[in-house]
Amino acid sequence: MPDCLFCRIAAGQLPATRVLETERTLAFRDINPQAPIHVLVIPKDHYRDLAGLVAAGDGLLSELGRQAHEVAVCEGIADTGYRVVFNTGSHAGQTVAHVHAHVLGGRPMTWPPG
Ligand code: AMP
Ligand code: ZN
Repeated sequence: MPDCLFCRIAAGQLPATRVLETERTLAFRDINPQAPIHVLVIPKDHYRDLAGLVAAGDGLLSELGRQAHEVAVCEGIADTGYRVVFNTGSHAGQTVAHVHAHVLGGRPMTWPPG
């Protein structure tokens, strides 16, 4: 998707602070962090949202989950705990229409989120 921000990051056409990468996924730091650790995990292929990712049905969702945990391990927050969020649609505040998991940690998370 040529106009998609995260497709362009995945393709290396826009800069990002990369944390982890596999053949099918990329993890990079959120530009506007909401916690001491705030990393986004995306599939390199374009899916609009969680529903699109699930419909693809090729194990990518579980790979994203594995990568989210791997990020937490690498960032040293696996033991203290972390939150994984897929904002989906307008009420959830999804602003980038390329599915992404937020991995947040490094401080106690409030619940419910605002
Ligand atoms: P969402 O609101 O769930 O769609 O999340 C989109 C996230 O992408 C926000 O937390 C933004 O801060 C983040 N973001 C937007 N542009 C960039 C960028 N160029 N590099 C890293 N993160 C970004
Ligand atoms: Zn995209």
